[in-house]
Amino acid sequence: MDGQATILAVDDCAENLHILSAALKAQYKVKVALNGKRALELALAAPQPDLILLDVMMPDMDGYEVCTALKRDPQTAAIPVLFLSSRDEEQDEAMGLSLGAIDYIVKPIRPSIVQARVRNHIELKRTRDMLERLTTQDHLTGISNRRRLDDYLGVEWSRAQREQQPISLIAIDIDHFKAYNDHYGHPGGDQCLAEVARTLAACVTRPSDLVARCGGEEFACVLPATPSAGATTLAEQMRQGVLERMLEHARSDTHPLVTISLGVATVVPRCGEAPQALVDLADAALYEAKSGGRNRFMLKTR
Ligand code: GH3
Ligand code: MG
Ligand code: MG
Repeated sequence: MDGQATILAVDDCAENLHILSAALKAQYKVKVALNGKRALELALAAPQPDLILLDVMMPDMDGYEVCTALKRDPQTAAIPVLFLSSRDEEQDEAMGLSLGAIDYIVKPIRPSIVQARVRNHIELKRTRDMLERLTTQDHLTGISNRRRLDDYLGVEWSRAQREQQPISLIAIDIDHFKAYNDHYGHPGGDQCLAEVARTLAACVTRPSDLVARCGGEEFACVLPATPSAGATTLAEQMRQGVLERMLEHARSDTHPLVTISLGVATVVPRCGEAPQALVDLADAALYEAKSGGRNRFMLKTR
């Protein structure tokens, strides 16, 4: 959430939506839905809501069903839901909370109460989002970090194993980067790392492709459901892309500009096999790209 938060208000009564909107619109971007189906659509549409105010009693799909659907979809599961209901019995409240709602507001709607609760929950959401960023983002380059890479590779590896689909990994390493640092200084090296990270990230187009900084001057790219032809095409685009940045490298033995070497690995995971098999294969390919002269990719499959 950067800047203004987005709130989705869901109620089958237009008058209630009016009251909620009036109470919140000075501080937030407010989206409204008159039924559950529309609520689920708006929960996925950009900008996704940071918080959902959800009426319990609605015809067709009630609030509990909407909440269950939201929590089931990984794309909406993390959005906090606050139930709004006139059914203030204890068991209703427990029911809502057990479905994953974060809080309960009893009708009739009092604007000052809604404003205060929303403010608190938006504050919590901001803190959670920040923690999420800090734990998954590389500080220097802004792309994903090692931890996120390991998690993502684990999830996608399992999926590939289940579906018997190919998965590719590209291991990427800047050539002669120690000499670059020694010559241009550490801040110069950091700038180069950020530039290379931006370039690599700009090469991937599918939402399922992940580029991460593994540490130092090493990067990796996970490509789910991608056979070797697709992975090598991307590797070549990355190699070319970095070269086209035209970053001078006066101390490289192999090229006057900053270059990268890439190891591409593609496998269909075997039953019971760990993702390390793919990492090892990509590392072996990278080693060959280095010893073969750098500024190139090598592919390993099996
Ligand atoms: P090769 O072509 O074989 O990859 O050689 P290399 O010099 O790139 O590889 P090596 O692993 O020997 O050196 C990596 C260097 O990366 C060492 C260190 O100076 C630099 N480095 C690692 N992390 C950072 C960082 O966060 N910032 C900067 N500026 N430099 C870093
Ligand atoms: Mg290197
Ligand atoms: Mg290295």
